Amino acid sequence: MSICLLFHDWGPWESEEPSSPCREKRECLRCGEKEHRENHDWGEWTSKPGFESCSRERNCKRCGKIDTEDMHSYPATEQICSTCDKQLDSFMNC
Ligand SMILES: [Zn+2]
Ligand SMILES: [Zn+2]
Ligand SMILES: [Zn+2]
Repeated sequence: MSICLLFHDWGPWESEEPSSPCREKRECLRCGEKEHRENHDWGEWTSKPGFESCSRERNCKRCGKIDTEDMHSYPATEQICSTCDKQLDSFMNC
């Protein structure tokens, strides 16, 4: 497995299976090593209706996977989000 040392000669990314179009793999043309990745086709971020306004989500247009993100804004001296009043779970002590 040491033919490539530092650099593999990767072939193109291809879908692993038709049933999971976002999982892709590629293979080194020299040593046959495989690499995997998820390559989703995310749509626009949308806010969750009726949920705290700091959370938003997006859907993959191909496989329907949902990605969520919290965007709380904590003022430097506070542990409570200025938008939704969520309290910080853990205190960051330096
Ligand atoms: Zn290789
Ligand atoms: Zn996907
Ligand atoms: Zn918040």
